[in-house]
Order: sequence, then structure tokens, then C-alpha cells
Amino acid sequence: MARIAVATFQHETNTFAPSKAGFAQFESGGGWPGYTVGAHVLEVIQGINIPIAGFVEAVRKKGHGVVPLVFANATPSAQVTDDAFERIAGDLVRQLELRASEIDAVYLDLHGAMVSERFDDGEGEILARVRRVVGDRVPVVASLDLHANVSEAMLRRSDGMVAYRTYPHVDMAETGARTASLLQAIFDRQERPHKLMRPLDFLIPLTAQSTLAQPCDRIYGELGRRETPAQAWLSFTPGFPAADVPCCGPAIFGMGFDRAALESAFVELGSILEAEERNFQAEFMSPDHAVRQAIDIARTASRPVILADTQDNPGAGGNGDTTGLLSALLTHRAPSALLGLLIDAPAARRAHEAGLGATVEFSLGAKSGLKQHFPVVGRFTVERLSTGEFTCVGPFYRGAQMQLGPMAALRKDGVTVVVASKKVQAADQEMFRHMTIDPQSFGIVALKSSVHFRAHFGPIAEKVIVVAAPGPMLADPAQLPWRRLRRGIRLKPYGPAFRPPLGGSA
Ligand SMILES: [Zn+2]
Repeated sequence: MARIAVATFQHETNTFAPSKAGFAQFESGGGWPGYTVGAHVLEVIQGINIPIAGFVEAVRKKGHGVVPLVFANATPSAQVTDDAFERIAGDLVRQLELRASEIDAVYLDLHGAMVSERFDDGEGEILARVRRVVGDRVPVVASLDLHANVSEAMLRRSDGMVAYRTYPHVDMAETGARTASLLQAIFDRQERPHKLMRPLDFLIPLTAQSTLAQPCDRIYGELGRRETPAQAWLSFTPGFPAADVPCCGPAIFGMGFDRAALESAFVELGSILEAEERNFQAEFMSPDHAVRQAIDIARTASRPVILADTQDNPGAGGNGDTTGLLSALLTHRAPSALLGLLIDAPAARRAHEAGLGATVEFSLGAKSGLKQHFPVVGRFTVERLSTGEFTCVGPFYRGAQMQLGPMAALRKDGVTVVVASKKVQAADQEMFRHMTIDPQSFGIVALKSSVHFRAHFGPIAEKVIVVAAPGPMLADPAQLPWRRLRRGIRLKPYGPAFRPPLGGSA
């Protein structure tokens, strides 16, 4: 039986976001386990819906042994600092070198949209360093996030890559298992698969990528139906449209042992994607319009109207501290509204000092120093306090042990805002329920999330409205100040083609 080295090194990089990911951000883990090296990796990943956990479980069932190297994951943000990248990649390579003589394969749990201060294509660099240790003799496979910006270098340096098929990502562990099946085929056949990749030539807004809606639900259905006849592993990555690097953008890629069958599945998939371009529509409302409409609907609805504060989504690089939507809820005197998570450690600390039931003045949010962003100042009553420690139960964050630091629920008139000290995307009801706050009892629930919230909050929603309140993750990629995309890629479906600015590089 084989011995397989396994490692996680994930970061989704929004090069327009307000803060970078240093080593400390990987140490805390941002909702996933904190930075871990060596044997302990297998303990910290247990029972969590993440690719490495699914991969390890699948290969162990086949009787293989695993050699854990590192686990590193940080909340999406701007670039990974050189310090963090070199420390983590350094540990990964050292661990691999120590065990290289006994290793039969390497599995990497990567995101696919990592940009470091020095490397535009973080994963291409990680794969190059792994390849330098193990050479071509040892198969190297990777799983990728659905938001991967896949590069030619990643494809060339790996023997196979398999991406998630759901957004919200409820199939992360399952993707690890599908990657294990590709590696098993490599073992069984004693050969490497053919690999194909085709970048698509338009960016897809994040909120148009949900697989709970069209066209993605249909596309992944078509993709899945072509796999078995082609004996292939096919992936479509809509990409992460906020990384200003040449490899940013959607792609289809696939691996298979029958070249002709793989090619024909691939051509069909390409035509399907081309035909679907018109259906990638992202619709969003201003905060004022959205709040007015939500108040109106909530008057007669029995379930909450969900407002997705997509432009400050911590899952896409926001810091979770903008106040545009909170202001609109207060201004329009929403009678029964819940907003979370507003990331503001000083406000959480102040609430804990003031104590339950106290009504004191707070200056909430706008801690990132973004221009034209201001705190909400006013007297709020401290309604709940928590240590921020709880385990998520929803389909996306299932099993993740949160340590968000001091948290508090603060109320002003009909609006309750839940503040936390460490940033994480509001994608699990337990973030409120652990404080005995039932999101279902509110008329309006405003969440700092783009799509992942749908996995756990979708079933309790009367309606979902995507809101474009001011924030760093622009919902319309055509509005971002791009400088370094590849020439000619369209900035959204049927949008304008990118031309490098004077003085910029393509
Ligand atoms: Zn993702």
C-alpha cells in the first residue's frame, strides 16, 4: 500500500482588499484550524468539511498510509505576506524532504487563487517547490476551491487537479475524496492522465456563481453527466474575480486516461459554457432600496428577508466592518432586524466591560481605515455577551470550531447588531444561536456574506436580496481598478474587454 504526503495551504487573495494575510492570520486559522505542522494535522482536521479530511478518509479506506506535512488556512484578504508564504512553504518543503524517500505520492489541498507579495500564482509556486523535492517520479495531485484562478503552471506541475462543484461549498470533503479517486486511478493504471485546460474569456461576478441557482446548477449537472462516459475528472472553476493577476478568470480543466474521450467531453463543456454566458446575471440593490423593500415584505412574511452585504464579505477579503447597511437599517427604523457579524474588537470589549443590560455609547465599525467609511455612533443596549467559542453545525462550516474572541449583541430600537472580535463570514446560524438569538424570529436578517450563507440561512429565508453597500469587494467586477489582468479578458459577461492602463503591465 502507498504512503501519501498530505498538506493544506489555502488562501483566497483579493488584491483590492484592505489588509494582508501575515503569519498571525494563518496561526489563528480564521474559522478553520490554526496553523499546524506534522502529525497533529490529522487531529485538527478530524470531522470538518474540508478537502484534506475527505482525502485522508478516502485513502485510508483503500488501505494507504498518510504522512501529514502542514495545515495552513487564513481568512481571505489581500496578499499573503512574503514572511507568511516563506515560513509555511518552508515548513511544507522541509517536512516533505524529511520523508521524501518513503513517499509514493503527494496530495495538496490548495485554494487556487492565492497571491503572495512576491508570487502572482501562489499555487504554481507551491507546486514547483514540491516538484523540486519529489521529482517527476512521484504523482502530485491537488484539490482546488471553486473560486480558483487556475494557471497553466498549476496544470503543468501537477498530475491532476479536482475542484469543488458547489457554492456554497458544501462538497469540500467530497472533493478531497474525488481527488483520492484520481490518485487511485494513477496507482492502479501505473500511468499519468492526460490533462486539458481552457481559460474562459470573461470574468463572472461572485454572486452569479451560486450553484443553488442557474446557470451554475445546470452547468455542473452537465459536467457530472459527462464524467463517467469519458472516465474523466472534469472541473469548472468560475474563478475569483478580485485578484489582479494575469491568471485571474474562469477555466475548465480535466484529466482522463482516454485522450479522445476527454477531448470530446471537453469540447462539449466549452460549448455549454459559451452558450451560458448570457445567464450569469448578478443583480443587487442599494442599501436604501433593499432595506425599504425588506421592511415592506417583512410586514406580512412569516420568515425573515435576508440581506446579503456582499461587498464586505470576509469570505472574499472584506474586513466585516463597513456600516452602510447598518446605517440604512437604523435610518429607516427597521422594526425587527438582526445584522452580523460586524467585526469590531474594541466595541465587543466595551460591551463586556459595560455588562449585560447596560446602555452606553458605541462607535461601531469602520476600523479598517477605508476612505469614505464612517462608524455608526449611538447608544446601544448590551443584550447578549459571549466568548465567541462555539462549533458550527450548518452544511458549509460543519464541524468548524469558532474562536471569534469576545462577542456581543447590541440593540438600538428594532435593530440588533452582533459584533465579534475576529473576522469570519456570517454563514452559520450558530454564530447567533450560541448566544440564544434565533435568526428566524427577526423580520430582516442582514449578513456579511455573498453566497455561503445560503447553505444554512436559505431554508429559513422568505426572500434573499443582494445588497451593494459600500465595501472593498465590488459586486460588479467591471468596476474594479484592474491593472494586470490578461489582455482582452472581458470584465464581466458581455462586458468591456480589459486593456492594460498606460504604465501598467499586462
Ligand atoms: Zn470559494
